[in-house]
Parts: sequence; structure tokens; C-alpha cells
Amino acid sequence: MMRIYADNAATTKLSPAALAAMTPYLTECFGNPSSLYGEGQRAKEAVEDARMRVARCIHAAPREITFTSGGSEADNQAILTAAAIGRKAGKRHIISDPVEHHAVLHTLKALEEEGFTVEYLPMYENGVVKAEDLDQMIRDDTCLVTVMTANNEIGTIQPVRELGAVCRMRGVLFHTDAVQAVGHVPLDVEADMIDLLSASAHKFHGPKGTGFLFTRTGIRLEPLIRGGAQERGKRAGTENVAGIVGMAKALEDAVASMDENGKKLTALRDRLIRGLSEIPHSALNGDPEKRLPSNVNFCFEGIEGESLLLYLDDHGVAASSGSACTSGSLDPSHVLLAIGRPHDVAHGSLRLSLGEDATEEEADYLIETVKEAVNYLRSFSPVWRDLQAGKRMYIL
Ligand SMILES: *Cc1c(COP(=O)(O)O)cnc(C)c1O
Repeated sequence: MMRIYADNAATTKLSPAALAAMTPYLTECFGNPSSLYGEGQRAKEAVEDARMRVARCIHAAPREITFTSGGSEADNQAILTAAAIGRKAGKRHIISDPVEHHAVLHTLKALEEEGFTVEYLPMYENGVVKAEDLDQMIRDDTCLVTVMTANNEIGTIQPVRELGAVCRMRGVLFHTDAVQAVGHVPLDVEADMIDLLSASAHKFHGPKGTGFLFTRTGIRLEPLIRGGAQERGKRAGTENVAGIVGMAKALEDAVASMDENGKKLTALRDRLIRGLSEIPHSALNGDPEKRLPSNVNFCFEGIEGESLLLYLDDHGVAASSGSACTSGSLDPSHVLLAIGRPHDVAHGSLRLSLGEDATEEEADYLIETVKEAVNYLRSFSPVWRDLQAGKRMYIL
């Protein structure tokens, strides 16, 4: 049977090139970058070379890149840094939006408990925020705007450059969680007027446990982890040398093939969207165009997302119903609720996130298998029976 991994928004497979780049730093070149002798210096050179290459991929300067353990750490550090700067200036107002990753939302919750006020941009049915709304909401005491570049569940791409322009004009720090975007869609921290940006290697075929935070020159990063002087004193702990080297290689490769992969994936994505739209009482979640090339997210009325995932797993498909972080809990996705899907419908969601090696044949298999799954699950769903009998109103 065919096996299709369609959960690349949760994590991606390490690329063979990244693994090859990492191997020497897991074997013979094992020195500590802080050591002064040759072995250490070679490791340090590898880290600094990776910093330069990562910086180039997002149009930053090497000194603006801090290596972290991943996207969650970068999000925490970016937000807590902006909060520390705000606190010193007596500014305790933050603007975000309701579809952020929990690494952002939970950090903001913690700041609210410390006396910060957090307001959320209005969310629209297509999952995209508006720069005009942001302009209206910024106050004299706003110290941070944090809006993700691309959503991990519904794949919507936010108008980052317009948001950045509003923040720049109003003198407010702008952070973006770009974990789903880096290596997948074009990003330029200069042109997009971004002050802080989070990224994670395992979302672009690099290793897990490695990421980076871009911090514009002039912003003093607040350390989360204290200790040694690594990362210019902003992130203590012996560097994950192999991880950092693997991330740089994976990112360079992703950026080099971004246009080609983007075109190919967009065509496959739209093929999937057309095919799945044929399922009655279904709906695409998120904007059809302002969307990651790899992301397809649907709601199907009258079924449970969990049962759908189990059926798909049995039939060779690895997919997700939302974010990997909330699956395992029975709460419907906060993202789907924020774009206005009612609880019942939000429970019946499916996210397919394609890898760059996906084929048309696989897309067609996905369409057929999801169609069969939905039919099968509906055949013994009490909710579906009530809908069919007219005892309940269809929402989709
Ligand atoms: C995966 C993800 C994160 C978390 O990154 P980790 O490296 O797994 O900590 C944060 N934000 C978004 C949008 C993500 O998709």
C-alpha cells in the first residue's frame, strides 16, 4: 500500500544534504566552540559560517541571528524581550491576533498576569488580519505587535509587509512567528520591516531542536537561559553545533528551490482543494490564495476529526486535524473557532500539508481516500443521520 506523509506542517523529514553537513560535527569535529584550541575553533567557525548563511537567507546581518532550541524558544524570547523594553518605558500594551501558535499565546497570557494588556486583532472568515485594524488599535503605550507570517493550521499568509509598515510608522516593535514561512515563501526582514522573527529548522527539513531568532540591530535581547557567554550572552549553553550547521544547509537548499517548489506545490494544493470540495457539506478553511503552497485544511460536517485521522492512518495517510500541539486534546482548534467555525464543525477538520516530493498520483490517492473516509464515517454518524433527516440544520 502507498504511504503518504501529509503532515509537513507538524514536522519535516531531515534532508540528506543537511544530515551530510551535520555528520562531521557529530563525529570527528566534536569540539566545544568556546574552547581555544583547534577542535574548538573549527566548531566555532562552523557556527559562525552557519550564522552568516542563515542571515543571508532572510536578508539580515549575521550579528542579528541568535541560535535557539527552536521556534517556541524564539517566540518566547522575542516577546519577553519586547515586554522588558516596554516595561522600562512604561508601555504595557501588546497587540496580537487569535490564531497565533500557543508558543505566542501562552507567553502573552503570562505577561497579562504580570500586568500587561493584550488585545487581539479582529479575525475574518478567511483567517487574514488587516493592517487598517492594526493602525486603529495601536496606542501610545503599545510596546509590541506580534502577528505570525503564516498560520500552521490553515496556512493563511498575513500581510506582513503592511503590518511592518504600520509598526515602523508608529514606532512599535514588530515580531513575527515565521516558523511556517521561512524556507517556504519569500521573506526579507528589511523590506518587510520586521524587528524580531522566529524560525525553526525542523519545519524546513533541518533537524529538530534547532531554530533562530532574528533581532534587529539596536534591540537588546533579554536572555531566557543564563550562564555562559555563548550567543553574545543572549543564550547561554554550549551550541548545538551539528544542529546549527544542518539548519543552515537545509535553509539554503529550501531558499534555492523555493520558487520551483512553490509553483509545483501550489498546483497540487489546488488540485486537492478542487477534489475535496466535491465532498458535500465540506468547506475549505482559510483563504484560497493567501495561503502556503503546501497547506490544505477542510471541515467536513457530521464527522469527528480524530476518527478521520485513524481511518486515514489505516489507509496509508499521515495527516492531522489541526496543530500537533492540540491533537491529543479534545478541544477544537482555537484557529478554526477564531475564523468562525462552530464547535461541531471545527471538530471535523483535516489538515493535509504536502512535502516538496509530493506527486499528482499521491494527490489523487489523497482525494479518493478522504472521500471514502468521509462517506464511511458519515454512514454511522448520529449527527449525519440527524442532518439527513432534517432534525438539524446543515452549517456547511
Ligand atoms: C512548529 C511551530 C512552532 C514551534 O516550533 P518548535 O521548533 O517546534 O518549538 C511555533 N510556531 C509555529 C507557527 C509553528 O508551526
